[in-house]
Amino acid sequence: NEKTLAMIKPDGLFGNYTVRIKNVILESGFIIFKEKVVQLDEDSAASFYAEHSTRSFFSSLVKYMTSGPVLVMVLEKENAVADWRTLIGPTDARKAKISHPHSIRALCGLDSEKNCVHGSDSTQSAEREISFFFKEVSTG
Ligand code: ATP
Repeated sequence: NEKTLAMIKPDGLFGNYTVRIKNVILESGFIIFKEKVVQLDEDSAASFYAEHSTRSFFSSLVKYMTSGPVLVMVLEKENAVADWRTLIGPTDARKAKISHPHSIRALCGLDSEKNCVHGSDSTQSAEREISFFFKEVSTG
């Protein structure tokens, strides 16, 4: 079975979407293999999103991601990486509300930054992101 990293971002936790998001996760056949609440500091948020360090929105992204705790989860199922990306919908929550109205970002996101959830975009990213938060988990 494949593993992916899912995250409920600060706006998702603040907005009390955790229970609804977890229901979607479980109804969609994922197992929540590990979970924990983490408060990211600037260095860890910048390091998690290092690939975006040259983008104009980077400092705003770091500020958003450190604005409160996040819930990180290792989800497991067949095709977990792609299926979780499908469930969360497009990056820009305003677009998600139009094109993917049943997606998680349509449910709890606001715009292209405050989009309430994260999902690894490939199996390589999943490996990196899972070990970033859960040193003890081997993705094989
Ligand atoms: P994630 O990696 O968090 O699942 P994603 O793969 O859909 O999101 P990326 O392009 O990797 O999107 O961007 C990472 C995060 O940076 C986005 O989830 C969002 O919070 C923020 N972001 C992306 N694009 C913009 C933008 N144009 N303006 C502001 N913030 C943005």
